[in-house]
Amino acid sequence: MGEPHVHDVLILGGGAVGTTLARALSRFDLDVVLLEAEAEVAFGVSKANSGIIHSGLHAPGDTLKGRLEYPGNRGWHQLHEELGFGFAPVGETLVAVEEAELATIESIRQQGVDKGVPGTQPWTPQQALDAEPNLNRDLAGAVWVPTAAVINPYEAVMLVADAAQRNGVRIEVEQPVIAIDPVDAHRPDAPLIVHTPAGPWHGRYVINATGLFADEVAAMAGVPGLTIRPRKGEEYLLDRRVEGLVHSIVFPAPRPTSKGTLVIPTVDGTIMVGPTAHEVDDKWDTSTTEEGAAEVFANARRLVPVLNERDVIAEFAGLRPVAQTGDFVVGPTERPGFINAAGILSPGLTAAPALADHLVDILADQGLALVETTDWDPTAPHPVRFAGRSTDEQRRLAADDPRYARLVCRCELVTEAEVREAISRGARTLDGLKFRTRAGMGRCQGAFCTWSCLTLLAEGLDVPVTAVTKRGGDSWIVCERDDQPEPDATGGDQPELDAAGSSVAW
Ligand SMILES: Cc1cc2nc3c(=O)[nH]c(=O)nc-3n(C[C@H](O)[C@H](O)[C@H](O)COP(=O)(O)OP(=O)(O)OC[C@H]3O[C@@H](n4cnc5c(N)ncnc54)[C@H](O)[C@@H]3O)c2cc1C
Repeated sequence: MGEPHVHDVLILGGGAVGTTLARALSRFDLDVVLLEAEAEVAFGVSKANSGIIHSGLHAPGDTLKGRLEYPGNRGWHQLHEELGFGFAPVGETLVAVEEAELATIESIRQQGVDKGVPGTQPWTPQQALDAEPNLNRDLAGAVWVPTAAVINPYEAVMLVADAAQRNGVRIEVEQPVIAIDPVDAHRPDAPLIVHTPAGPWHGRYVINATGLFADEVAAMAGVPGLTIRPRKGEEYLLDRRVEGLVHSIVFPAPRPTSKGTLVIPTVDGTIMVGPTAHEVDDKWDTSTTEEGAAEVFANARRLVPVLNERDVIAEFAGLRPVAQTGDFVVGPTERPGFINAAGILSPGLTAAPALADHLVDILADQGLALVETTDWDPTAPHPVRFAGRSTDEQRRLAADDPRYARLVCRCELVTEAEVREAISRGARTLDGLKFRTRAGMGRCQGAFCTWSCLTLLAEGLDVPVTAVTKRGGDSWIVCERDDQPEPDATGGDQPELDAAGSSVAW
């Protein structure tokens, strides 16, 4: 048997942290592989969050998360220009509802000023109401922060991964790490051997960016002492009918465990309210609850009284990976070559590009030679968003390519051309397609477009439609029927069948 191939860097986990690191390393002449457990990147915590690129004000400057927050904000601005994901620099209005909260919001503003965040302004109640007329009319004061933005987190992470791949990083999905070989006592500096069900992977350096599971993966490497507790956040997305209710991200004065309940204008023009912040035991518990909804709306109505639960069209929960320290746990460990990027709670999405640069510095300190390639391309073709174009542009697109004239998702105006483009860039599941294009995210929540998406995925991936899943694993949507009924001669209601005699099974 020949010597195994040893990769320079194995990145474990394809969330915001793993993919931004993959992209940062792609500028160097290195052999980098990213191993992701799920069917696609961004299917972990990075898909279920508030999508805020924080202004830089909120995390204390004496923490790692605080130091990386504002540089990360700048990093996302640049990534947006290079890669073209949904991004809106809407700014933040930090509101003191009561007089007693004025000192808190001013100290947060000062914390931001000390960290170099530009443009903050203390606002009188009238200034805040002029900018945001739907705010609570009894508010005591506010702080305006222009540097905050919103993004589509899943779309952004998927395009960052795509950019890394275009520059030579290998991304391997459905590769859950199940074991890491112990240190070889005779060769303590030998490459690490990481096992997935597909086989062993050898790497000189291994970055543990596995989010909620980073403690378990660290333990596999023989690195003790890390505990990750999930802290659940429920979020509620409102109908497009209430678009424009707020123009900036509205924050309350924060609480010790979270920034509080926010009212967020999303990139897509909807309004989102949330999140909650409660510790849970189960790392898979992404349920939403009646109590969570009640808490979110009670808190959010303190800020924007006209908010109404009846406008909710979708809800979800995400779990923040919280380490014992409450800060990011990043750096080399006692296991040579094994580097943690763990405990990445909020503002982890924001901080990710700066954290990636920090990890590159750590790798260099640990002896990785960084030689820039001559053909690195920081840009990639920006995805076309048909719905966001003017009527004239839409006509032009459709005239040039008839696939733009065929609507797949009527609620969100997503065309066949966009769906096919997303598949060519790595969408392999119905959810992956939805996150990349918004097909299925509108008012009907996929009732109309699911079948078209399924058949386009099956065609693009060259598999039968029964092999296409919602989110990987065994989440199939269509199944073969052994007892296929004869078509109803009377023309009565029958399930829609494909050529292979499959039917839609919800
Ligand atoms: C409700 C909520 C709201 C938030 N809002 C914001 C916000 O507005 N702004 C902000 O900056 N931050 C926010 N955050 C925090 C932010 O989402 C996280 O800090 C960030 O997404 C963490 O990224 P990650 O790459 O570390 O983790 P993940 O995205 O979870 O990535 C880890 C990856 O590792 C994979 N993995 C796990 N185990 C294995 C294994 N054994 N083998 C291989 N792969 C594995 C997972 O499948 C996953 O894809 C929020 C978090 C929550 C929960």
